[in-house]
Amino acid sequence: MRIVVIDKSKCVPKKCASECLKFCPVARGGQTIITIGEKASIQEDLCIGCGICVHKCPFGAISVVNLPEETGAMTHRYGHNGFSLFGLPSPSGSVGLLGPNGTGKSTLARIFAGQLVPNFGADTPEGARKKVLEVYAGTELGTHFKDLYDGKLRVAFKPQEVTVIPKLFTGTVRDMLAKVDERGKADEVAHDLGISHILSRSLKDLSGGELQKVAIAAALLRKADLVIIDEPGSFLDVYERIRVADIIHKYAPRVFVIEHDLIMLDYLAETVNVLYGRPGVFGVVSLRKNTRVGINEFLDGFLKAENMRVRDSPLKFLSKPSSETGSRSIVSFPDFTVDLGDFVLHSPAGDLKQSEVVGILGRNALGKTTLVKVLAGQLKPTTGQFDGATANLKVSYKPQYVEPSGAPVAVLFKSIPVDPAINLNRDIYTPLSLSHLLTRSASALSGGELQRVAIGLCLAQEADLYLLDEPSAYLDSEQRVNTAKLIRRLTQAREKVALVVEHDLMLMDYLSDRIMVFTGQPGKEGHASSPLPSSKAMNLFLKEVDITLRRDPESRRPRINKQDSNKDKELRAKNQFYEA
Ligand code: SF4
Ligand code: SF4
Repeated sequence: MRIVVIDKSKCVPKKCASECLKFCPVARGGQTIITIGEKASIQEDLCIGCGICVHKCPFGAISVVNLPEETGAMTHRYGHNGFSLFGLPSPSGSVGLLGPNGTGKSTLARIFAGQLVPNFGADTPEGARKKVLEVYAGTELGTHFKDLYDGKLRVAFKPQEVTVIPKLFTGTVRDMLAKVDERGKADEVAHDLGISHILSRSLKDLSGGELQKVAIAAALLRKADLVIIDEPGSFLDVYERIRVADIIHKYAPRVFVIEHDLIMLDYLAETVNVLYGRPGVFGVVSLRKNTRVGINEFLDGFLKAENMRVRDSPLKFLSKPSSETGSRSIVSFPDFTVDLGDFVLHSPAGDLKQSEVVGILGRNALGKTTLVKVLAGQLKPTTGQFDGATANLKVSYKPQYVEPSGAPVAVLFKSIPVDPAINLNRDIYTPLSLSHLLTRSASALSGGELQRVAIGLCLAQEADLYLLDEPSAYLDSEQRVNTAKLIRRLTQAREKVALVVEHDLMLMDYLSDRIMVFTGQPGKEGHASSPLPSSKAMNLFLKEVDITLRRDPESRRPRINKQDSNKDKELRAKNQFYEA
């Protein structure tokens, strides 16, 4: 099967010379394969797949893809020459979805919630329910859709985008929860999620993390047989992610969850389907896989049953500590405090060594970013004397919140002192998938695109110390894997040091040679540890969070143990919360 997809946002006939039409051999032979009105339109049944238009279009608007027969039938298409989705996950049990953004995960969530009726590739925006029931008759999917359309299957939905909630609802958190509280448990759920103290606050005054927890509470308060949860981990710190996962387990009978934090996904789902394809062009749903196997195959980059490679190289978890860490100290800092008036950070003396990645782990509002700003020279400590060598270090810093500038991305890269040891194409643009963004204005980029640009700008510079504050925010699981590999590779190849604040526990485990753990009272005082061997630091942190982690025997990735499971009891008995 061949599909031709035109990115309508890129196709601007007024600014091109109709190259697609001029150079298409079928059109030149006299057939009406391409018509150009407000946008181009290409007849797939006449296309011979030569790819000439793909290369000739000056804006890269066209994709022509030949799909193998095994891909199966199209489930949904967003109009003529639009994004195409193939396959559906099985709806039984708690299902997880993982894969790159733009391959159809949110579309699947809407189909499962009954918000979108699949059209099986027809040109209509939505299909007919009757056709859906015919296509899936006699299968688990048929039962799901019949019960859903008959109103027998009640579904609650936590959408991906929570920052729009204040635009959709006015009033306080309590007002909103009261509207959806079909179970009469608003106070109990609010207490469990730690949002009781904000019930009387206006929705418009909430932070992203607070809105996320309110949205999750709203979904859990519905009398639902299935709760669809799109990205519950966004805006939450590592502690809150684990707590939220536990609460979802407690209240939701069954979940359909999309999450890029693979530890969280692993904890919530019984089975997973991996999505692969080309973002914005097509997505294919893999067969149903046991969660352990599915995540391992995703990290390995190869789906065995489908015989499909989804990434060039695997993500391998190393035994800790890494033997490649050099012993030469690159940064050393004294005991210091930062007094910000209503918040005080205490940090003991420490040092950061050549070729190592040091992670920073802890709840929000404990001063992690404050410490990073001190090391970046953006904030003066209240006490503590930094020596001249440390003060003169070259630091490259990616802040937590990235402010987009109006300049094209290529201009931003021209404006920085690029490390002569770096080949921008090979070392930055390709691994971070930035090549197609170079001509775009940074202010027009999505959150994930902007994050990748900011990471690229940080890592491309010549520096002694690379500080990256929450690099995985807004990135999908695939981009997180690629970013983690890049940070490690460049740190070791350049024999520099990277300090990374991160809430994705699996990335933290993969990235870090040593870790600084933050404890204290959020918003009041924070206590940093000195950089500790990662196993010791993880143990300290997990004890505080009260969960245990085991290692997957095959991939060596960390997995959360269910409370009171045999492994959980075994590790707790040894006072060991982390299996190194
Ligand atoms: S697809 Fe490209 S070449 Fe064709 S009309 Fe659109 S912008 Fe022009
Ligand atoms: S791929 Fe070739 S045949 Fe198909 S529309 Fe493009 S130029 Fe024409």
